[in-house]
Amino acid sequence: MPLKFGIDMAPGGSTCKEVRETHSTVADYDISLAKSENNGAQTKSVVGSGGKCGVHSDNGVHELLECPVCSDLMYPPIHQCPNGHTLCSNCKIRVRNCCPTCRYDLGNIRCLALEKVAESLELPCRYQSLGCHDIFPYYGKLKHEQHCHFRPHSCPYAGSECSITGDIPTLVAHLKDDHKVDMHDGCTFNHRYVKSNPHEVENATWMLTVFNCFGRQFCLHFEAFQIGVAPVYMAFLRFMGDDNEAKKFSYTLEVGGNGRKLIWQGIPRSIRDSHRKVRDSQDGLIIQRNLALYFSGGDRQELKLRITGRIWKEE
Ligand SMILES: [Zn+2]
Ligand SMILES: [Zn+2]
Ligand SMILES: [Zn+2]
Ligand SMILES: [Zn+2]
Repeated sequence: MPLKFGIDMAPGGSTCKEVRETHSTVADYDISLAKSENNGAQTKSVVGSGGKCGVHSDNGVHELLECPVCSDLMYPPIHQCPNGHTLCSNCKIRVRNCCPTCRYDLGNIRCLALEKVAESLELPCRYQSLGCHDIFPYYGKLKHEQHCHFRPHSCPYAGSECSITGDIPTLVAHLKDDHKVDMHDGCTFNHRYVKSNPHEVENATWMLTVFNCFGRQFCLHFEAFQIGVAPVYMAFLRFMGDDNEAKKFSYTLEVGGNGRKLIWQGIPRSIRDSHRKVRDSQDGLIIQRNLALYFSGGDRQELKLRITGRIWKEE
């Protein structure tokens, strides 16, 4: 089951295959013609656009740019052996300078022609299947993909080594089905955290609840950990989406007892920031253990914290 989520978005070979499949529906196109078209204007050939663009794709050239060893697209310096077999720079190191195709010594020959040809290509973003329909110059594609809004998110669940990635609906389903996370509808909440042995902070306890409001999802984290030697509890909110959208929301958290109250107001952090990063930046409601036990009342043997909160959208 978990595998299902990972595979579609896996980096590496999948992009190349995806591109190849799409562009097999496009007519073949001789790159040399495109390049010889003159008056200085550069003609770009578009690969994998489903044939909608006016410029057609180059079958062979794109495949030539795939490293025969690792199948990734090659970026400068692209190497070749004396017989002309090409290979990416990572693989050149890996094969210890011996051409994997003809076994000749690779030497140090760069394939400038292929590097130049790559400049004339434009390729779709590797996250096309996740909704990004932009087309990029060959050498600008990688940079875009590192920041593409459609790139998969990592699972926001804390406390386990979960490697699941995907879009938000996929992750919401995953949190619910695989991590058995509580889901709540609404923008206000009133939670009670109870812990029977609050002096065992070392094995950091934590909880995650997902809130569904404004048609978006928010992760409320609550956990015990130590800042230096001081045991604390911390509650904070993360937004299931990108940072630019997270900033459109605000939230408050309140905790108290015995006539005292702590209030935190903040902006949810994007789940692009790891759970740990947010926690370590202390961007949330922090309650010292002594105070938490005071809020709990009773004999300090049990922690009972009521945390209320609200999420709203800034205009
Ligand atoms: Zn390679
Ligand atoms: Zn060779
Ligand atoms: Zn993209
Ligand atoms: Zn997970």
